[in-house]
Amino acid sequence: MPSETTNHNAPASHDSQHRVVIIGAGFGGIFAAKRLANENVDVTIIDRNNTHVFQPLLYQVATGILSPGEIASSIRQIFHADPNIHVARGEVQNVDTEVKTVTASQDGHELVFPYDSLIVAAGAGQSYFGNDEFAKYAPGMKSIDDALEIRSRIISAFERAEMTTDQRERDRLLTFAIVGAGPTGVELAGQVAEMANRTLTGEYSNFDPADARIILLDGAPQVLPPFGKRLGRKAANQLRRMGVEIILGSIVTAVNKRGLTYKNLESGEETTIEASCKIWSAGVAASPLGAIIAKQSGVEVDRAGRVPVNADLTVGNHRDVFVVGDMMSLNKLPGVAQVAIQGGKYAAEQIAQEARGRSYEERPDFEYFDKGSMATVSRFQAVVKLDKVEFAGFFGWVTWLLVHLAFIVGFRNRLVSMVSWGLNSISPKRWHLDTTQQQLYARNGLDKLAVESPKAAEARETRKLGTPNPAEKWKTAE
Ligand SMILES: Cc1cc2nc3c(=O)[nH]c(=O)nc-3n(C[C@H](O)[C@H](O)[C@H](O)COP(=O)(O)OP(=O)(O)OC[C@H]3O[C@@H](n4cnc5c(N)ncnc54)[C@H](O)[C@@H]3O)c2cc1C
Repeated sequence: MPSETTNHNAPASHDSQHRVVIIGAGFGGIFAAKRLANENVDVTIIDRNNTHVFQPLLYQVATGILSPGEIASSIRQIFHADPNIHVARGEVQNVDTEVKTVTASQDGHELVFPYDSLIVAAGAGQSYFGNDEFAKYAPGMKSIDDALEIRSRIISAFERAEMTTDQRERDRLLTFAIVGAGPTGVELAGQVAEMANRTLTGEYSNFDPADARIILLDGAPQVLPPFGKRLGRKAANQLRRMGVEIILGSIVTAVNKRGLTYKNLESGEETTIEASCKIWSAGVAASPLGAIIAKQSGVEVDRAGRVPVNADLTVGNHRDVFVVGDMMSLNKLPGVAQVAIQGGKYAAEQIAQEARGRSYEERPDFEYFDKGSMATVSRFQAVVKLDKVEFAGFFGWVTWLLVHLAFIVGFRNRLVSMVSWGLNSISPKRWHLDTTQQQLYARNGLDKLAVESPKAAEARETRKLGTPNPAEKWKTAE
């Protein structure tokens, strides 16, 4: 357990036991802790939030299909029956691999956690490829906060379009630009199109929601690059049938309140789109904790901030420090849930075996088993890639549904999600379209605070939500 001071010699709750600290209660952290439940080790799992978030379904929260509680499970409830697993909410700010401590802050209090073994699974944030100023107008989608902000922006755009009498402004308000045509961008574009074409039909007096312009933009020459050309083409065709405009081979060069500008990579031509709602799903950057650990271990992070790990997922000569999931770089493994789950389980297995007396020299190498990947395009339509087997359409959607149900944490969440998907299949309505002013403005409000308080600025920087520019006055969230 932690000490609430900077005293590095703080005792653990069970001094005789091997102390394991896990940073992050995402896929890697949760599966590592589950493997260590009931082992003769003392585990503390630290997360900045009190819930484990099922990120692959964030887009459904952003588009009103699911509520946050259905994809976020209380970490304490997950481990309530496991007396050797302790939960701490805190923002980890430092790791000292020499004295073997993790330092976190909780509401201004510093907490220090000594460890014998450390599993770092702090995931990744959004990357704007060096253009952090884009974040102000184009939120990413990495957290529940992000998904709720996006939902508020989408609904707010429709509401404002109803009230304006200026047609050009209405067109701008009804233009939704999604940057990044990976699974998240494709899923979001499909769902925004369904909202416009189906959910909101007949709800506004002054315009037809189906007139909304939904644009999906990417620098790659196809949508869903990891799925290959055939499935990428199928997904693109389905999106086009739903009215989504797809712009490929183009990178975004500017984002502001009124819209965004992109450059065609072949012709170099620049085009500006007026769009009130911009969403960024284009790049990822590993948690900055990776750079701290890499520096102390004599290795260098890659361009996405990921830590190169040894074959046993440890870093440099630190055989007691495992880095797993989106933060690790090994054999070009992708940043997907299965890599994190299998990495977390593997690291925990090594710790459990060694606590029973096995030498660390006997560790087998980590082996990843690729279980395939899938993405939904719309209701009843998904693309699935399982090694050499590829399929799309309704059967793909059923496969997607079953796999996601299996991995959502908690029986109630599975049941409620199943009911929500069932209702969403037969009814055009969505039951989670609520928005608040806080959701719309809080992120930029926090950035304003960060400008005024260097300490808050540091915390915001750690979370990779964009670097505030002190010269700029706070404007509205749009
Ligand atoms: C929108 C979206 C859709 C996705 N869709 C899919 C999909 O369909 N299929 C798929 O396989 N993968 C998908 N992924 C990727 C998948 O979710 C990640 O690969 C996976 O979550 C990585 O697991 P992780 O444990 O490394 O990190 P995460 O699951 O991101 O967990 C990291 C945890 O660490 C916590 N944390 C971070 N920094 C700190 C800190 N300083 N202090 C304390 N706590 C901290 C976070 O709060 C979080 O709980 C998607 C990701 C996103 C964002």
